[in-house]
This record gives sequence, structure tokens and C-alpha cells, in this order.
Amino acid sequence: MPSRPARYAVIGNPIAHSRSPEIHALFAAQTGEAIEYGRLLAPPDGFVAAVDAFRADGGAGLNVTLPFKPEAFALARRHTPRALAAGAVNTLAFDGDDVLGDNTDGPGLVADIERRIGMALGGARVLLLGAGGAARGVVLPLLEAGVERLALANRTGSRALALRDELAARLGPAHAARLSAGDLGSAGAGFDLVINATAAGLSDAAPALPSEAWRGPRLAIDMVYGARPTAFMRAALEAGCPRVEDGLGMLVGQAAESFALWRGRRPDAAPVLAELRARLAAAA
Ligand code: NAP
Repeated sequence: MPSRPARYAVIGNPIAHSRSPEIHALFAAQTGEAIEYGRLLAPPDGFVAAVDAFRADGGAGLNVTLPFKPEAFALARRHTPRALAAGAVNTLAFDGDDVLGDNTDGPGLVADIERRIGMALGGARVLLLGAGGAARGVVLPLLEAGVERLALANRTGSRALALRDELAARLGPAHAARLSAGDLGSAGAGFDLVINATAAGLSDAAPALPSEAWRGPRLAIDMVYGARPTAFMRAALEAGCPRVEDGLGMLVGQAAESFALWRGRRPDAAPVLAELRARLAAAA
């Protein structure tokens, strides 16, 4: 009898909207890796039981989405440094009793910026909007990519300050010296890149930034994505930013990092992103 393909899934609540099964099916076709990849809906209080059942049935790995990333962090027995910095896990890999937790959101974003968009992060001055899980997950990978200055700005300024203090204590003085934080109004100026890691786009809104923050950036990226430019992308263009991007490239990038962790092979994100973009446009 032929052996069963290795099994993976994305777990969350809700989960029907997730594009991860499509992305991983495209990676599997591209690389020739024999995998199955499905969706797992877990009840709000049933994450650990759902993971246990998946493992008992031979599951090899999971992607984890809202609201379970902190629970996945608690469940993992070992963590990558970027998962430790993020305090959240979006990728679990199972090997016997071992459970490795990783966070691939940041590397996915960095790969999208440097490889696809072509902007070098070494020496760049970056304004990161938001202080939730998405912002937290990308701080260490951005610092490790060599950004010269990373300013966190959030609607609730105290959350950005608390995040800066927590990460500075965890990451040490060399990283801490490049981190600053405050509210949106005190974001400042002199940035090369603005990244929107807020959830404002989900209600078609853009974070309210002072006009001086838009003097200089060559690129603005929204982590939210869709068939049309988001409110943040439109605001950036109106403010004179020459290039805007949405979060679809990051989404495919983080999936490629998960696939590489599980399968030991890095798929080419570019054709998969093009296919996904075409499908989004066709469905609009
Ligand atoms: P979260 O933990 O709930 O944090 C939400 C953040 O958005 C907070 O900083 C919040 O500010 C801010 N916010 C919400 N509404 C706002 C508004 N109208 N104006 C200004 N700020 C606002 O969410 P998250 O997990 O960080 O996710 C943030 C976004 O990133 C989501 O839309 C998610 O879909 C997206 N994301 C995309 C990818 C990808 O691969 N493309 C990966 C991860 C996340 P306060 O603190 O003031 O409430």
C-alpha cells in the first residue's frame, strides 16, 4: 500500500477564510512534496484537545492563527528565538514527543521586503504601526535584518511603550538602543519605510499619522490585504509615498518559511503569490 502523505493543517477560530490550504497546495505541487494540508476549526476552549487529536492521528505540523497563537506558544516544548521574542507561535512541528514552536510572520515580511520588493533593510529607518501580536512578531526579524532605527507607534501609546520595554529587556542593549515607542501623534519623521501592523484596515480605516511621518518613506506596507488597495495604502499614496504594498506577499512568505521548517525545502514564493493575486482579483 502506498504510504500516506505527511499531514498538516491550519488551526483557528474562525478558519473558513484561511488561504493557507491553497498556498500549501501550490507549494506542494511546485516542489513535488507529498503532503495533505487542511483546515481545523477548534472551539475557543478546545485548542489543546484539537492539537492532541491531530497529533494522535499522525499529524506532522500545524499553522496556528487567531485566537490561538499564545496557546500554541504555551503548548510548544521548544521555541525558536524569534518565537520567544514574539511570545506567540504560528507554526508547530511535531516529532515524536517533541513540539517545536516557531513564528514565521517576521521572516515572511522580511523576505517579502528584501527579496520581492527589493528594498534593503540594512541601515533602514522603519516606523512600525501597532502594538498587537502582528507588530510584536516582526520586531526581532526586522532588527536582525539590520534596521538602524525601529519606532513603534500605536493608537494606545502606553501599549507601544510597554511592548518596547518588554522587548528591550528580552533582546538586550544592542537591539534596545534601536527601539523607540509612543503614540501615533508622536511618530516623528525621517523614515524610509512605514509598516502598518494595526487591524484598522479590517474596518477600511487607516491609522491617523501626522503629516511629517510621510516626509521621506519610499515604501509603505499594510499587513492587511485584499483585491483592492487598503485605506492605509490609499492614505500613503495621497501623502506622497511612491510605493505601496499589501500583506499578501507577507502571507505567502510566512507560509514558505513554515513549509521550509517542515519539509526542509524552501518553495519559490513568487509564482504562488502571483497565482493568489490573480485568484483574489477574479473573486472580487
Ligand atoms: P491585535 O493583536 O488585535 O492588535 C490590533 C492593533 O491594531 C492594536 O495595536 C490596535 O491599537 C490597532 N488598531 C485597531 N484598530 C485601529 C484603528 N482604527 N486605528 C489605529 N489602530 C488600530 O491584531 P494583530 O494580531 O496584531 O493583527 C493586526 C493585523 O495584521 C490584522 O489585520 C491581521 O489580519 C494582520 N496580519 C497579517 C498577516 C499577514 O501575513 N499578512 C500576519 C499577521 C497579522 P490599540 O492598541 O490602540 O487597540
